[in-house]
Amino acid sequence: MDHEVPFQAAMDGHEDEIEIDVLRACEQCNGSGSESSEGVRECPACDGRGRIQRIEKAGFFTKQVVTDCSSCRGEGRIVSDPCLSCDGQGRAKQSKQIKGLQSPQASLPGPDSG
Ligand SMILES: [Zn+2]
Ligand SMILES: [Zn+2]
Repeated sequence: MDHEVPFQAAMDGHEDEIEIDVLRACEQCNGSGSESSEGVRECPACDGRGRIQRIEKAGFFTKQVVTDCSSCRGEGRIVSDPCLSCDGQGRAKQSKQIKGLQSPQASLPGPDSG
């Protein structure tokens, strides 16, 4: 005699853990990217614009070329003492762990006499 066992997934007590990455302002430097407030200054090479305009001559014409400032890498500011927490980025990648389902009943240890 055949006996069929229905396939059943045990779902009770299943725990899901979701990890998401959140980009947010670094709490250490308040998003400035510098350890101290005096550590950030305007880039003198680009006047804080982050871009440098230069005129290139091409024959009879001149064309304006805008490039990212190499001194500040397009940031427009120079951080003399970068924040260690965010590596001077001003943004910290924080991974958040969210626990989904929690097991409704914790398995209590039974009386165990040994
Ligand atoms: Zn610059
Ligand atoms: Zn920081």
